[in-house]
Parts: sequence; structure tokens; C-alpha cells
Amino acid sequence: MSYQVNKKGYYGDFGGAYIPEMLYPNVEELRSQYLSIMQEASFQKEFKDLLRDYVGRPTPLYYAERFSKKYGTKVYLKREDLCHTGAHKVNNTVGQILMAKRLGKDRIIAETGAGQHGVATATVCALMGIKCIVYMGEIDIERQAPNVARMKMLGATVVPAKSGSKTLKDATNEAIRDWINNPVDTHYIIGSVVGPHPYPDMVARFQSVVSEEIKNQLQEKEKRENPDYVVACVGGGSNAAGAFYHYLDIPKVGIIAVEAAGKGIQSGESAATSALGKEGIIHGSKTLLMQSEDGQITEPYSISAGLDYPGVGPMHANLFRSGRGEFISITDDDAMKAGAQLAKLEGIIPAIESSHALAIFEERKFKPDEVIVVNLSGRGDKDLSTYIDYFNL
Ligand SMILES: *Cc1c(COP(=O)(O)O)cnc(C)c1O
Repeated sequence: MSYQVNKKGYYGDFGGAYIPEMLYPNVEELRSQYLSIMQEASFQKEFKDLLRDYVGRPTPLYYAERFSKKYGTKVYLKREDLCHTGAHKVNNTVGQILMAKRLGKDRIIAETGAGQHGVATATVCALMGIKCIVYMGEIDIERQAPNVARMKMLGATVVPAKSGSKTLKDATNEAIRDWINNPVDTHYIIGSVVGPHPYPDMVARFQSVVSEEIKNQLQEKEKRENPDYVVACVGGGSNAAGAFYHYLDIPKVGIIAVEAAGKGIQSGESAATSALGKEGIIHGSKTLLMQSEDGQITEPYSISAGLDYPGVGPMHANLFRSGRGEFISITDDDAMKAGAQLAKLEGIIPAIESSHALAIFEERKFKPDEVIVVNLSGRGDKDLSTYIDYFNL
């Protein structure tokens, strides 16, 4: 049995393409071509060259000596925080902008919540000289002013979504509406391993460069390709999918996915999808999502904007349901403590999303000779005002 997607676009019971009929031609065009395009030698070369020269890959695999000593085990950090724009998201947007060009598209749309994916998309559109429209909830535009400014500086048009709760899901609805109206010239860049097939698989493949590099780097440093565990935080699940990808079907490598418990799993203010989620359909795929008795999607909450999502991608729903992955939820307070601690022990200020992954060492014990790789998905610059408020800095 494999934990990769099957031919029909499913991971176990999860995935598929549950879309309005009007969107079918767009999604089908992508589905029928994405694998052959990705396998072209010229595509691979252009992708790899940009990852090296523009994104700054390979990112280091860093042995965190003082952190390891504190927890009595061997911890390596995969330094996605050192990517251009400060997180892993750009690995995917570089891949998708090249895909859009191969498909003959000259207009890009995207949705964004916290603005990180919007910035990563605006960045590659500037790089390629392609028109970029980013849909963003009106409330998120107010909350995330620095990222809105970045997108504008990069030449993108930021369009406020004014319906519903004026947040991410409303921005997604606007983006889908746009795509239905502009099927010929427009590619929709989705920012995580979510959405209708083939998006979860395509995004996972673009992010899989992370675990490809971990294998080579661990071979060099530890004389083995496989760690005992690989750990990553999960919002939609793209940095986790990238870190897990080449280990999914190697059972002796433990997979640990870390979700945001917000103010506590039972507090009504969390984003702990594996603990609280039920099967349902969101953004065109069948997965686990937080919902009320009558199937209304619950507003998620986390102190980290990137984990503030009511579902997980179908790959992760299947890792949870099948027991292949171990899921741990971390509260705001524990994540903030872990972020502050990494800063003091290693001189690295992590994104608050990544701090969730680091916090598991307080509750999950590992053996002294075990090798644990934690995907440090992003840097903390964007979170400075949250750290300042929280710690009274
Ligand atoms: C967006 C983001 C995440 C969450 O998204 P995934 O798709 O789950 O990876 C995690 N970390 C950082 C730094 C982010 O910007």
C-alpha cells in the first residue's frame, strides 16, 4: 500500500475533485497535462536552476547542538527559513509559475489569508513579468498590512473579498469565481496541498525537493538517508508534505504532524483538525475539516496565521486516518515558548508556525541516538509584532 496519491486523485478515502461543472474544463486541462509537463527535461532544468539561483537551495540541514543537548536526542533543522521570501511557500509558486507558462497562461490569480502565499505568488509573477491578482479577505487586509504592502510593491493587484466572514474562505470563493470567468488565459496558484486533484499532488511534488535534499544531507552527516522521525507543522500541509514526501512509503521513518491547538483543543478556539475534524468537502476535495453538526465550516483560530485553517490536505487526512502519521496538537502558549527558546539556544528566530513543530520536544520524548529532522518552515521576521506583544519586548 502506498501513501501517495492514486490515479483517481485519492489518498485512501480522501481527495478527489468536487468542483462545480463550470470549473471542470480548467481543472481537467491541468490534470491531463501536469505530470507530463513536470517530467520534461527542460521543465526540470528551469525549475532546478531557479530553486538554486533564485530561492537559494539547497537549504542547509543544520545540527542544532544546544537544542539537542537540552532534549537528550539528535535534532536537525531543515532551514526553509533561509529560502528567498522567508519560507517554503516559494518552492511551490516557482513550480506553478513555470507550469502556467507551459500551459500558455498569461494571468495569475491566487487567494491568501495571512498574505504569505500572496507574497510568494506576487514574487514569481514579478520574476516572470506576468499579471498577478491576489484575492484577500477585507479583514485580513487590515490585519496583515505589511504583506499587502509587499504584494503591491511587487506589482500585484490585491482585491478585497467583502462577503461572509471577509477572511480566507471568502477570498477562495472570489478566486474560484474569477477562474470560472477567465478559463482560457488564467492559472490559479493554490498555496498548499489542498484543493481539487491534481493540486494536492502537484504542490506536494514541487515541495518534495525538501525531503530529497534531507536524504542527501543526512547521508553526508549521519551516513544514513533515513531519520528516525521527520516532524513538521500542518496548516494546509504543504511544508509537511514536502518534508514527508520521500519517506511516506518507508515505514521505519516515523512521521509526526503538528497542528495548532490554539487556546486548547476543547476551547472552541483552535485549528486542531485531526482531533476535531470530520469528513467533509472543502475547496474541492474530500478531507477532514472542522464543522458544526449541520456541516457549516467552523472558524479556525491559531496565534499563527499560517496554521489558521479549518481543514488539512487529503494526504494528511489519510496519514491520520491510517495511523501512518502521529498527530500532535500544540497550544499558542507552548508554541510561543518554543520559539523564544530556539532564539536563545540557537540564534534562530522561527516563524510561529514552525515553533509549533519545535514545541513537541516538551511532551514527546526521544532516545539519545535517535535522529529527528524538524522542518523549520519559515523565519520569524513576519511575526515580530506578535512576539513583541506576547513577551512585552
Ligand atoms: C503558510 C505557512 C505554513 C503553513 O502552510 P502549510 O501549507 O501547512 O505548510 C507553515 N509555516 C510557514 C512559515 C508558513 O508561511
